[in-house]
Amino acid sequence: MQARYDIAILGGGVIGLALARALALAPKTPALAVIDASSRIPPATLAAAGMLTPSFEDALGGDALYDLGAASLDMWPAFAASLVEETGADIDFRGDGVFGVAVDAAGAQKLDAQYEALTGRGVDVALMTGAEARALEPALSDRIAAALHAPRDAQVDPVKLFAALRLSLERRGASLIDDHVAAAERQSDGWRVTLGEGGGVVADQIVVATGAASGWVIDGVPRPPVFPVKGEAFSIAAPPAPASVTRVIRGPGAYVCPKAGGRIVIGATEQEGRDDLAVSAAGIESLRNGAAEIVPALQNCAEIARWAGLRPATPDGAPILGVALRGARGAWLALGHHRNGVLLAPASAAALATEILGEKPAIDLAPFRPDRFG
Ligand SMILES: Cc1cc2nc3c(=O)[nH]c(=O)nc-3n(C[C@H](O)[C@H](O)[C@H](O)COP(=O)(O)OP(=O)(O)OC[C@H]3O[C@@H](n4cnc5c(N)ncnc54)[C@H](O)[C@@H]3O)c2cc1C
Repeated sequence: MQARYDIAILGGGVIGLALARALALAPKTPALAVIDASSRIPPATLAAAGMLTPSFEDALGGDALYDLGAASLDMWPAFAASLVEETGADIDFRGDGVFGVAVDAAGAQKLDAQYEALTGRGVDVALMTGAEARALEPALSDRIAAALHAPRDAQVDPVKLFAALRLSLERRGASLIDDHVAAAERQSDGWRVTLGEGGGVVADQIVVATGAASGWVIDGVPRPPVFPVKGEAFSIAAPPAPASVTRVIRGPGAYVCPKAGGRIVIGATEQEGRDDLAVSAAGIESLRNGAAEIVPALQNCAEIARWAGLRPATPDGAPILGVALRGARGAWLALGHHRNGVLLAPASAAALATEILGEKPAIDLAPFRPDRFG
């Protein structure tokens, strides 16, 4: 006999896991399964830098995406604290602000425009000269012409977050199934989910959260327009203070994210139309140069690791959240979080979980509906 669940989440990256946890925290906890193939299809989540930076991401997707990101940033401190308190895990959440920096007049002008847009939205940000930014982060290059400081933007370690979310779900009694979903088909008694290793489960409701994976699993529902945008990144051993930075710095050619344990993550390239995970020497070199342009002491630091991941992108840059298709009762999508899945996880998860449980979420998901693509 197949195991039966109230809700099966197909895909357990940060979006599937955060959604599962939001459902598990509901007053009447549903019987939950997360079916995830991360041991064979690496999640973008484990490639992410973990920046939680809506102030620097408004170029994509417009107002609705900005608002979702800002709402999610607001949720992050409590989301992190509750996860840490529950699991005892250290997820290296840091709400100590982020700098965007410019090295020439054109870049400074872009920061000016960004400052105007953000203050117009009532966001607390400050424009600084290079010298003012260096007073806070002395390792910044003398070449820096201007900086935009977003004191509330934050970061987390996505690898630690992934482990902590899984631990929380295990403790809350969810089934974490390490397998590959081959198909999901609506039958009279619910959704029959067929697993690649044989067998399957039955669930009243299913949620597809398979990231940028190319296979499509729901019979009778068209594949949504999610495509991979490959990103390469690497990590180095941080130089000793004061040659290193303490906060996230976003420059024109790379971003620099200091992590716990003296590690710095530097990212990330963006390549549409690639779905492989090969890491190119040219990509890493351009990131290294981009990092050294803004923090010169990083030029020769020893590399620790390099990797690539596939961001799940959509044509308008915004995620796909909601009922898969009118008529496909009990099938939901949580896809397309592109460059911001870690940032957006608390808000996307809370809002979609509320809808799945039959209530109206505080966050309006109308701009993110699957049917907006026709
Ligand atoms: C280099 C890089 C840097 C990034 N930096 C940031 C950042 O700083 N901040 C930020 O917010 N975001 C960042 N992102 C984006 C972020 O990583 C993604 O938006 C996010 O991880 C998407 O989460 P997801 O759960 O939708 O997908 P994924 O994390 O890709 O998870 C999908 C899961 O589904 C599983 N799966 C797929 N198909 C199946 C199947 N058929 N059956 C079962 N399981 C399946 C996969 O194995 C995987 O575990 C970055 C991404 C990259 C590549």
